[in-house]
Amino acid sequence: MSVDSLAALTIHELHSLISAGKIQPQQLLEDLLERIEYHNGRLHAYLSVDPDRLHRQLEDQLRTRKAGRLAGIPITLKDNLCVSAEEITCASRILRGFRCPYDATVVQRLREEGAVIIPRANMDEFAFGSSTENSAFGGTRNPWALDRVPGGSSGGSACAVSADMAIAALGSDTGGSIRQPACCCGVVGLKPTYGRVSRYGLVAFASSLDQIGPITKDVTDAAILLGVIAGHDARDSTCAPVEVPDYVSTLQWPVKKLRIGIPKEYFVEGIDTEVKAALDEAVRTFERLGLVCESISLPHTPYAIATYYLIATAEASSNLARYDGVQYGYRSATNLRQESSSNGLLEMHRRTRTEGFGSEVKRRILLGTYVLSQGYYEAYYLKGMKVRTLIKQDFDAAWSRCDVILTPTAPTPAFRIGEKLENPLQMYLSDVYTISANLAGIPGLSMPCGFSREGLPLGMQLLAAPFKEQKLLQIAYAYEQATDWHRRKPTLSRQQIAQSK
Ligand code: GLN
Repeated sequence: MSVDSLAALTIHELHSLISAGKIQPQQLLEDLLERIEYHNGRLHAYLSVDPDRLHRQLEDQLRTRKAGRLAGIPITLKDNLCVSAEEITCASRILRGFRCPYDATVVQRLREEGAVIIPRANMDEFAFGSSTENSAFGGTRNPWALDRVPGGSSGGSACAVSADMAIAALGSDTGGSIRQPACCCGVVGLKPTYGRVSRYGLVAFASSLDQIGPITKDVTDAAILLGVIAGHDARDSTCAPVEVPDYVSTLQWPVKKLRIGIPKEYFVEGIDTEVKAALDEAVRTFERLGLVCESISLPHTPYAIATYYLIATAEASSNLARYDGVQYGYRSATNLRQESSSNGLLEMHRRTRTEGFGSEVKRRILLGTYVLSQGYYEAYYLKGMKVRTLIKQDFDAAWSRCDVILTPTAPTPAFRIGEKLENPLQMYLSDVYTISANLAGIPGLSMPCGFSREGLPLGMQLLAAPFKEQKLLQIAYAYEQATDWHRRKPTLSRQQIAQSK
């Protein structure tokens, strides 16, 4: 096999090479670290990387676990997933210096399969954002065009996978944060059903919406990683005791006659013409493959963004109350002794939060506190919860007409850095197609389906009924076999790796 670097390969390719003894995991880790070292200064996909610790971790893994679905394969994690003894910040100053006391359940499961964990992929602060510009430690760039955002909030993970600075990654998705960056960076992103993957050890954003899922170079890798991380966990009471199917062995099941619903509410004003054209072409590909496409309606779609920003901010404001300068990370250096003792404590909380949180985090805490406050709770939060039920019922009704739903992942290709920073509403609109899946708790997968004239990746989203990830992956796999979008790499990578040799 002739490749620039082992880092360019997928989990399944590397697994075959490692099991056949054709390559050594040490060589793979070295190739990957070389790429990270070369590109991270410019792309800033990782907040920090510690090569010595990673080598030691690999040696430990090799001593104890020779087999496993991920033996010797590095997997990258967003900086909101706990890895025992490693620093975790959620890209926020308020957590600076905090070390995790334990492994997240997903991390434990990756380790059991022999993976080497690479923590600390960049993200929007506390996962609030769609561009990774809200990271307190500097944004991530899109490897396809350095003046563009990689999407967010799992932008570091998606950038790393796309630029071969990761073999595969895990992100978290509360309103689109796995799927939208996957779309912007031309890779595959899967948000599982709410309850499919344990959230234990994921720093909470909005607990009724958050899910962890894979960001990968192809659909097979998404199936492998989901198979590893899914399944019941007593430490997360919302994690469902539903059996985990073998997602890989069903990838090749026939797709003929399966039904795809195309919601008319998703193809209205605001959609970029190139995105629309790529989706039309995808429909033709599905039809050639023998699937049946028909128009459906999800009538409450126009309320999704407003509903999400009521519920997500309400939950976030309560989840973020714990960052008080006492329990975690950062504490304001104010000289408290100069204040009277009770004022001193309050002042310390106030200054810690003022100095520790970025402006988007403050905006959301204010919004969330407002919608939960007496007098407004019924008008906002409760109403939001009711509309959420209506949005879910739209999907429940759709599944009698179709097996999966096809939509764009994002309304436009990756936008320019800075373009939406001053206008939060414009930024929020980037999630118009992804948010409903979180509100309804259903699984969604984004995959590449073309390129814009400027060479930016375009993505489509497939949605399915709860716990039907198998169907999503099977249909996505059939599409991937019929196209070659997923094989394209950003030219930056090729050129620069050549120069670096
Ligand atoms: N972009 C959305 C937000 O800012 C979704 C974020 C996410 O899924 N974590 O809330």
